[in-house]
Amino acid sequence: MTGSERARSAGRLAVVGIGPGAADLVTPQAAAALAEAEALYGYGPYLDRVPTRAGQVRVPSDNREERARADAALAEAASGRSVALVSGGDPGVFAMAAAVCEAIEAGPEAFRRVDLLVVPGVTAMLAVAARIGAPLGHDFCAINLSDNLKPWSLVEARLDAAATAGFVIALYNPVSKARPWQLGAALERLRGHLGADVPVVFGRAVSRPDERIEIMRLADADAARADMATLVLVGTAETRVVDRPGLPPLVYTPRFAREAAR
Ligand code: SAH
Repeated sequence: MTGSERARSAGRLAVVGIGPGAADLVTPQAAAALAEAEALYGYGPYLDRVPTRAGQVRVPSDNREERARADAALAEAASGRSVALVSGGDPGVFAMAAAVCEAIEAGPEAFRRVDLLVVPGVTAMLAVAARIGAPLGHDFCAINLSDNLKPWSLVEARLDAAATAGFVIALYNPVSKARPWQLGAALERLRGHLGADVPVVFGRAVSRPDERIEIMRLADADAARADMATLVLVGTAETRVVDRPGLPPLVYTPRFAREAAR
């Protein structure tokens, strides 16, 4: 963007990832963008994690109103304010950055003039992986288990493709009150492709005080032990669990792999 184009832009919107929970996993760039903003938008519990600053307006919203929240934050920025829209983890991973891009594409011309900055954050699958070793050390993919924005048949097709292609699979949004059965169905489906001993990790509230990490075999994975704050990692036949005396086991996927899974 040239200087004159920047001068014509109406205001500024930073879509800021604040990481999985711990304050020391907020990047300096994210902290600066949050401190600079005149107005903060976001899901209430995420806003609660941001240090307060006098004179800064806070506009908390419900978790499911992503598009409305993006429109509101863009409208505020388009009026000339400096706005930050807060996202958990990374804003580009099943979060607000795509909602903002959708709103810019569909919205009024003024939204396209807003100076948009996407500030990356530590996404849940990286935070969980780092806690236990290196489960994402070889090829992997991430699937959002929520069927709010896509049909369940598409989730099933992607689970089949990922498992048969030999990807480690990170499952985001495994469960919610409105979606109680999806994780059980997904695990059952994966059992049709993968061996009983494939390691599975339930990483809950990672980097927060109520963190809980459980490692189990696919055959034993119990969907009832996951909740909205859980990230599920499903390994491959290559994924290893290494026991250590007096220390939690290491879970890792070696950098090398044998032939194609199928
Ligand atoms: N943008 C976020 C993901 C939003 S979807 C990110 O990049 O992490 C919300 C899902 O993320 C949750 O249902 C859960 O699966 C996962 N998640 C978010 N924070 C988490 C944490 N601290 N520990 C484990 N999983 C987490």
